[in-house]
Amino acid sequence: MFFRKMGLVKNAEEIELLRENNQLVSRTLAELAKHIAPGVTGLQLDKIAEQFIRDHGAEPGFLGYDGFPNTLCISINDVVIHGVPSSYALRDGDIVSVDCGTRMKGYVGDSAYTFAVGNVSESAMRLLHATKESLKQGAAQAVEGKRIGDISFAVQSYVEKAGYAVVREMEGHGIGTKMHEKPGVPNYGRRGSGKKLIKGMTICIEPMINMGVRDVVQEKDGWTIRTKDRKLSAHFEYAVAVGKEQPDILTTFEYVEEVLKQKGNMI
Ligand code: MG
Ligand code: MG
Repeated sequence: MFFRKMGLVKNAEEIELLRENNQLVSRTLAELAKHIAPGVTGLQLDKIAEQFIRDHGAEPGFLGYDGFPNTLCISINDVVIHGVPSSYALRDGDIVSVDCGTRMKGYVGDSAYTFAVGNVSESAMRLLHATKESLKQGAAQAVEGKRIGDISFAVQSYVEKAGYAVVREMEGHGIGTKMHEKPGVPNYGRRGSGKKLIKGMTICIEPMINMGVRDVVQEKDGWTIRTKDRKLSAHFEYAVAVGKEQPDILTTFEYVEEVLKQKGNMI
């Protein structure tokens, strides 16, 4: 079949390998959730993640990818995505997006969660809620017969109604043996537009949502993407397999949220 040849549609075995990877990413994010607090540095979190991933028989998916120097992308406050872990110590009130990838058994994982550090403002909390909810709304559209644009529209309409802006320069993507496969999954678009979804297509949906304007700039390091107006940005990411009746979400935030609940830091 044409789509299988193109690698867009995965069989059940391939989907299980993607699930294994993304479950490990989910558990890594939960391990990090235990450590995220004022005073912790991105580099410390990066070490914890790398060790955790290797201890579970996988390799960090981002390390060396396109020359990326670390295991995690750590994007703090006005950094949208692709922040490079540094010696900056997290402060009370920061928000921090942690994007994590794995490579195991020939497949990859890729998921992200934005954490509140200590006590954050109510407005930041609302941004986190809305971004996470927009991901859920988008993922709910990952059903056979719908189109990529239905996912895009669901994300965009939800966040814009909440008063936020969608970053357009970066988007979600197919996932399989490689981190970034076709098709692209924009976080904005028209209902009923784009590629038709077929059961077994595996994609990452990852809204990047700004509190102010949607425009972003890239830092001189060649990685860090920041909001142009320096206002906050949040980012959540699921790997999802398109299902016949309902989406098969390969990532889970359950483990993370269990830890956050125990810490009394649930967003
Ligand atoms: Mg990612
Ligand atoms: Mg991704």
